[in-house]
Amino acid sequence: MEPICTEKFYGGKIRKKSPPRSSWVKTHRVMPSHILGPTQYWQEFYKQSEALAAAVAHSNETDILCTFVYQQPSNGSRKFVVAHPEVYWWYYKIKPQEERCSYEIIPKDSPCWLYLDLEYPIDLNPLCNGPRMTKTLIDIIRAYLLNHYHLLCDKSNFLILDSTSSKKFSRHVIFTIKDMAFKDNLHVGKFIKVIYNDILLYLKLDMPSHEILSHFNKADIEEMLVKTQHGEKLFIDNGVYTKNRHFRMYMSTKWGKQSFLTVSTDCTHNTVNKCKEKELEIFLDSLISYFPNKQNLILLEFSNQSNINVQLYTNLPTRSIQSICESDDQTSPYPEIDKYIGSLINPGKIRIAKYSDKIKTLRYEVYGNRYCENIGRCHKSNNVYWIVDLNIKKIYQKCYDEDCSGFSSTPKNLPDEILFKLDMEGDTLISHAIAWDNIL
Ligand SMILES: [Zn+2]
Repeated sequence: MEPICTEKFYGGKIRKKSPPRSSWVKTHRVMPSHILGPTQYWQEFYKQSEALAAAVAHSNETDILCTFVYQQPSNGSRKFVVAHPEVYWWYYKIKPQEERCSYEIIPKDSPCWLYLDLEYPIDLNPLCNGPRMTKTLIDIIRAYLLNHYHLLCDKSNFLILDSTSSKKFSRHVIFTIKDMAFKDNLHVGKFIKVIYNDILLYLKLDMPSHEILSHFNKADIEEMLVKTQHGEKLFIDNGVYTKNRHFRMYMSTKWGKQSFLTVSTDCTHNTVNKCKEKELEIFLDSLISYFPNKQNLILLEFSNQSNINVQLYTNLPTRSIQSICESDDQTSPYPEIDKYIGSLINPGKIRIAKYSDKIKTLRYEVYGNRYCENIGRCHKSNNVYWIVDLNIKKIYQKCYDEDCSGFSSTPKNLPDEILFKLDMEGDTLISHAIAWDNIL
């Protein structure tokens, strides 16, 4: 890649003799340094890995450094800056608006706040009310936080930034709470994806009830389903929870656009990082991975294993557990499919879910529902079971009754939203799979 020409970037204000590492902004004004102020450390890099390593190496208990990316206005090429956020802000805020093209890097394996990237094309969704959809989603997330972590929070915990243009609704929502964070952004991603799938299944399968979603107005939930060029989906971007993610910062625009992230008019956020400059407070709170008080942080983790399943397992009559196998589980590596089967056999429950990686097949033992397609009614004593063949992405029912041995129901397609997830996630979904090849 061609090295960045500082003269070009700084609009010719820097003389040719300036060393290439000198900062774009420091030539204009120098931040006054105080004994108690943040470290003035500032280093620019062309390689992300070097920048991230420097941020770790030069951070200490009192001075936490972050890694930022900025894109040059002239050609969009990227450069990495490691600095204390207050120092970065000092130089960043006075840049001409059109030159503010900065991203925070959310380092992998680092604590971060729960964040959301919300978007939809306006022309395809003329009737959608983005602020109302944001409110619905925040309320749902609050309910999940309460349910999962017993965490009580309100709207003032959510910082809402908006860069909606005439073409696209676009928002960042950040859940801020003092001295608390998710363990890393993969945990945030898992948490959000579970909510995402719950909503899709609730809407698509017309589930009669859901412990959280049933408390909401269904029309409000439905509104979050938007049309895009790639079909219908929720207005939540699921793809922003990857390692070392770049997340656009407060007051920045995407390169070549004129849509700057500003505080939305419906935001009622209460500052977490208190300081004397209001704008700086917003900036610091908007950073996903900046925690000045890292030692005292309480970390939230998220795993798909739900307590409900554990309860069900212990409630089972022991006879039926022993009759199959001792080392099984009501969940498979495919939580969406578990949920779908659960709804299909309602009021029955999944007793055991088995997954074979070798033959890419799921098998669900069920109880509480003995309906067998072969006889068109329920068996009196024998159970049925369901097979999901991931190779052909179809599902069919089989039966333990002697008269039904060898019977398979006509295979049905998995629902679209599950097919979509399978395609999207590929093999990553089953990366933590335990294979029950010996059993199947
Ligand atoms: Zn049968």
